[in-house]
Amino acid sequence: MDDNNKRRARLRSRVRQEVQTEYESARRLMEARDDYDPVWAYFLDLLMRPMDRNGLQAAVGRPVVEHLCNQAPYELFHAMGVHPLRMASGCFAAGRLSAGDFPVLMCPMLKAIVGMQRLRESSQTAPSARVVPTTCDWVVQYQQMTDADPEQTFFMELPHLRESERGQQRWLEQAYELVRFLESRMGVKLKRKALASSVQIFMRAWQAIGRLIEQRRAGRLPAVWFMAVANSFMLDPIEPWTEQLQRVLGHVDAHPSQAAGKGVFLAGSPILFPNFKLPLLIEAAGMTVLGDDLCTSERIWPGAVCPEENSFHGLLRALAERYHMACICPTFADNERRINTILGVLQRYPVRGVVHHVLKGCHPFDIDSFRLERQLKSAGIPFLRIETDYVEEDNRNIATRLEAFAEI
Ligand code: SF4
Repeated sequence: MDDNNKRRARLRSRVRQEVQTEYESARRLMEARDDYDPVWAYFLDLLMRPMDRNGLQAAVGRPVVEHLCNQAPYELFHAMGVHPLRMASGCFAAGRLSAGDFPVLMCPMLKAIVGMQRLRESSQTAPSARVVPTTCDWVVQYQQMTDADPEQTFFMELPHLRESERGQQRWLEQAYELVRFLESRMGVKLKRKALASSVQIFMRAWQAIGRLIEQRRAGRLPAVWFMAVANSFMLDPIEPWTEQLQRVLGHVDAHPSQAAGKGVFLAGSPILFPNFKLPLLIEAAGMTVLGDDLCTSERIWPGAVCPEENSFHGLLRALAERYHMACICPTFADNERRINTILGVLQRYPVRGVVHHVLKGCHPFDIDSFRLERQLKSAGIPFLRIETDYVEEDNRNIATRLEAFAEI
């Protein structure tokens, strides 16, 4: 082994240890909360094995297909007997393994994903098929960043004009392409009956998440627990995960927490375990997050799928529409739905302001935050933009700004 390789091996082993420590201390923090209950242990267990393809494959008993973002319908994977693993990470230490190879101002989530992948490389078996929706510029570069096999990567081309008929038609074609890709790589054929059954299985999960969202809107569930549940989505087979979610609903019904202080809406870039710093700081500033539009939290939930007809085409079209039309990611050019969704929550619930989270380097949410700020402030709604990274150094500064915001 030459000196360079030795250095890399030493760094990898140090980072592996730091990653472990970061996850363990985040878990301990959650377990030490006054509102901790054993009902949360299942979800924390799942969060402790992020991006672990081999572990997940063994747990679910299905081949795992990696994907980014939320646009590829989960029901399709399920009906084909494969399990989707979302590549996402909130780990600061993992990002150190990849930081030197990319621009300084790059999405920290992507840095962490690539770092986690490098950590796992040595222990993972054959490369998995990957589905990459072409959302933001960083995601589009993902295959190059990871030197992934192009033959195993399917770029789901996302029409950035969503409301146009041409865009919707193009997206439906992409859903058909995705089916063909998975069929050829996984050696299975997607059947109508299996798809109809998977739509029903996921419908139960969506309904349960919908109830959990309502509990949170009512201030009966702290944001960090909601996020722990949402972040763990698809880190286990969907059926037992939904059962555990039902237990959570029973627990929240029996032991609701009391919303403290001002209710706020949390918008913006994704938040992922173990980096729950912003929701924790919001809570410490005396505010309660009653809703969010994060792609790692409420936005995982695309709502009910309503096929007009039960044919294969009808089901696929309904899925494509749901995952495309309902998505309010700011990578879309026509995105009035995002502001309307936020305003809708503000009108129906006691939400008194919007905290907008921007990860440094996350251009889509950065750009959109200025438009949102103008629109919300002109409607008299307090707005606070927090730009941060996967670091703790700015905690004090963010806490001060949040405390001032809580007073408005
Ligand atoms: S939208 Fe933002 S957070 Fe999501 S992958 Fe792109 S840059 Fe990262």
